[in-house]
Amino acid sequence: MGLGQSEFISHTIQKCVDNSISFKLLPQKTHQRLLGFFDNYNLVTCTNNEEWLSTLVHESCHLDQFLAGYKPFFDPVFDKVSIWEPEHRVKDPILFKKAFRISAQIEINCDRRAVKKIKKYNLDIDLDYYRQTSNFHHATYYYFHKTGKSLQMDSEILDLFPTKSISSLKTAWRERKDLDNFLKSCNTPL
Ligand SMILES: [Zn+2]
Repeated sequence: MGLGQSEFISHTIQKCVDNSISFKLLPQKTHQRLLGFFDNYNLVTCTNNEEWLSTLVHESCHLDQFLAGYKPFFDPVFDKVSIWEPEHRVKDPILFKKAFRISAQIEINCDRRAVKKIKKYNLDIDLDYYRQTSNFHHATYYYFHKTGKSLQMDSEILDLFPTKSISSLKTAWRERKDLDNFLKSCNTPL
């Protein structure tokens, strides 16, 4: 028998305990519209939804980035602007763009770690779907920075993203004609 879900969870809890991080599983769908988050002090996952294990893996990989001292995670740009504050878009567009690009880079690195972890612990997560939704998610950073609008995920838009690998930053951070055309065709304002 190899490693499994219970080992993954107990190893993650142990890592949190060893590093004075609070580990929380919340029996609810979302918390402030998020499925989970890691904020350097808390690793939080909402468990009353089908994505909870994927969310826990993903957030645990942000914890790994933090503990490994992964440089982009600590970039000083995040002390100056927040990508979630729309006024920063106007106040300092260059820093705002930089913060978005680095955020996309952090997420790509996180999801690459997550894919490895899913394999290592033989977790019951559909890897193709995980990689595809991750690639979609990474592309949303470019679009949100460019347009101020978020992309809604559905099965049709997901088809535009690969399932077999996590795309590089170069691939994620670019204009995409196919995506533009798709959005035009379904009248989603860009
Ligand atoms: Zn993330």
